[in-house]
Amino acid sequence: MLSTNVSIEQKVNLLEFEEKGVHVYVKRDDKIHPFISGNKWRKLKYNYELFLDSGCKGIATFGGAFSNHILAIASFCAENRIKCVGIIRGEEPKVLNHVLVLAKLWGMELCFVSRQAYTEKNLLAELWQGHGYFIIPEGGDNDAGAKGCSELVDELLRSYDHIFCASGTGCTIAGIANGVARKKLKSHCHSIPVLKQGEFIEERVLAEVPNIINLTVHTSFHGGGYAKTTPELLRFIHYLAKETGILTDPIYTAKAFYAVSELAKDGYFKKGETILIIHTGGLTGLLSEKMLSAVQKSIL
Ligand SMILES: *Cc1c(COP(=O)(O)O)cnc(C)c1O
Repeated sequence: MLSTNVSIEQKVNLLEFEEKGVHVYVKRDDKIHPFISGNKWRKLKYNYELFLDSGCKGIATFGGAFSNHILAIASFCAENRIKCVGIIRGEEPKVLNHVLVLAKLWGMELCFVSRQAYTEKNLLAELWQGHGYFIIPEGGDNDAGAKGCSELVDELLRSYDHIFCASGTGCTIAGIANGVARKKLKSHCHSIPVLKQGEFIEERVLAEVPNIINLTVHTSFHGGGYAKTTPELLRFIHYLAKETGILTDPIYTAKAFYAVSELAKDGYFKKGETILIIHTGGLTGLLSEKMLSAVQKSIL
């Protein structure tokens, strides 16, 4: 596997943090790999071990047409000469987007299924299992995925009062909470669900760490729902990029950074507290036609 040495912790110097006397850092998991980035790398680590033990002939997995997970699996499998299948939600588009073109370049077999058929993922999984493939669930969300994410906590160079990350399935924050509990740290864990009705994230974390008390799920920063944006969020992407050099994507990471900025302005943190944001990667989310055009408009 690759090394996570490159995932450094660095200070995020924004005026709102300085004004409130809080110290915000980012863990640059986005630097782990350009395409197997952030939490997708961590989720893959132990799934890869399970795959090797399974004796299966390849890996099959699930995702939407813009999925960072699909991209990560395609890239990883090409680097490791593993046959792979991406079961993609929705009919095959006439022109493939950047994620699917890259996946194809890396030799992933794309299998498009209707949204209706996609709801029966278990049946599809059984089918591909029958063909000798090891199944990794959508987003890499399983126990092995959470275990990989929990290792992020072992790498931390200092202690933090708060740890934040963006959540889709909640696997990453569940792993982090597990790592925090395992190491008996005092850090409070915060999830920023990027979709509406993110309350379910709490259940996902509870499955990993029963009776957890140091968890807050902030359900009001989804910006309208999954892959939806607001003018404030788009402006924030620009602000963060020009003030710090850190690029974020509008689907996931920008929502986490924006939440921390807003919470700081609202006086949510105590003076002197230390806060860590996990940059979970996924920059290709910024590079779709739709998002580039939205961001561009917000800058003008
Ligand atoms: C997939 C993804 C997430 C969501 O992680 P979960 O473990 O599903 O909560 C967050 N950030 C980025 C950049 C992602 O690609």
